[in-house]
Amino acid sequence: MGVSICIHRSAQEIGGNCIEILASTGERLLLDAGRPLDTPEGIPTPIPATLDTTKPVSGILLSHAHSDHCGLLETLPVEWPVYCGKATEVLLRLAAAMSQKTIKQPCVHWESGKFLPIGPFKITPRLIDHSSFDAYALQIDVDGKTILYSGDFRAHGRKAKLTFDLMDTPPQHVDALIMEGTNLPKPDSILKATRSEGDLQEQFISLFRESRGRVFVSWASTNIDRTVTLYKACQKSGRVLVPDLYCMLVLKLLKPYGRLPQAEWKSRHLRAVVTNKMSYLMERIGESDFVEYLKKHQSAMSARALAENPEKWVIMARSSLLEDYAAKGIIPVEEDTWVWSMWQGYLEEASSKPLHDFFAPCRKKYIHSSGHASADVLRKFADAMKPKLLLPVHGAAWKEHQGAFSQLRPMANGQWIDL
Ligand SMILES: [Zn+2]
Repeated sequence: MGVSICIHRSAQEIGGNCIEILASTGERLLLDAGRPLDTPEGIPTPIPATLDTTKPVSGILLSHAHSDHCGLLETLPVEWPVYCGKATEVLLRLAAAMSQKTIKQPCVHWESGKFLPIGPFKITPRLIDHSSFDAYALQIDVDGKTILYSGDFRAHGRKAKLTFDLMDTPPQHVDALIMEGTNLPKPDSILKATRSEGDLQEQFISLFRESRGRVFVSWASTNIDRTVTLYKACQKSGRVLVPDLYCMLVLKLLKPYGRLPQAEWKSRHLRAVVTNKMSYLMERIGESDFVEYLKKHQSAMSARALAENPEKWVIMARSSLLEDYAAKGIIPVEEDTWVWSMWQGYLEEASSKPLHDFFAPCRKKYIHSSGHASADVLRKFADAMKPKLLLPVHGAAWKEHQGAFSQLRPMANGQWIDL
């Protein structure tokens, strides 16, 4: 018997990734342990029906810290060891603390490009461009076969070069490429924007310059590329970026892993807004000194100050901040602008209603770019890897694009394939 692969989940849908590789020795490895995107809040992540949790696994390899790739950890056996990047573990633990959970599995770190043996499996992680910080494609060599798992990736973010590097130096003889296909469009759907962060930066600069009032921006704190884009646009336009405490904490925790804007820089263009709810949250997750730390570096401000000099500020906007903003007199007016800088679908969800209400008087803008590769880049990536077999995951329209990918073998969740 040789190597077999089973996609327990994400064979035909976006998110919830859980892929098993079974070696001839019977030892097995999991690629990602994700939470399906449609799992209702408060419900523990369901274990895929076909995944056997009674036998050990040699390791769970996590490509990155998005919950649709790691949210299943909470329900998997605590003895199963986790392998991931160092910064990924930091983000995992922070996300767990925020939702009053803990990661119980032991974590072992890898380094990009450095070979790591796990039982009969030889792992080579390759850092790749994605909207999640510290995302990897994973090469797995076992029993004379080479498997490449793309994880989630793109080629238009601030680290696009990493994706092109992998395309320029692919593994030799890829027997199976397991690749994401998030942005393959359904016949009737609108294409998601895949403009570069540099383009977005220019768009933000123009907006910040021509706006008379405050600019509120809704973006994800863990989308580090976007935080950097906004910070740079503030530098260029003379405005001050005002993230909340959580966003500033993410930057501080990731300090060892990249040159990211920090309170310690004492930059005139970066100041965290201190609000009651967020301060309480900092205490709850054991970061009660964080506000003092920001004050020490002159990087904290009260929300009240945002009511004056409106032309100065670019302010983080999320539902959990609105009450505290209103209490301090921040009431959006016609001259203000609200920018949505996340996936548009979230805007239509019920949880966004408080934002719509709060920003009703403002001008609205949509400035965003996808965290995933365009259909064109997906094709080029697959061509560059020259796989004997392409196993599609993390996409809802693979079947419609079958003709564009040679060697494509669409699978059903739970189905096994021998290499
Ligand atoms: Zn992702």
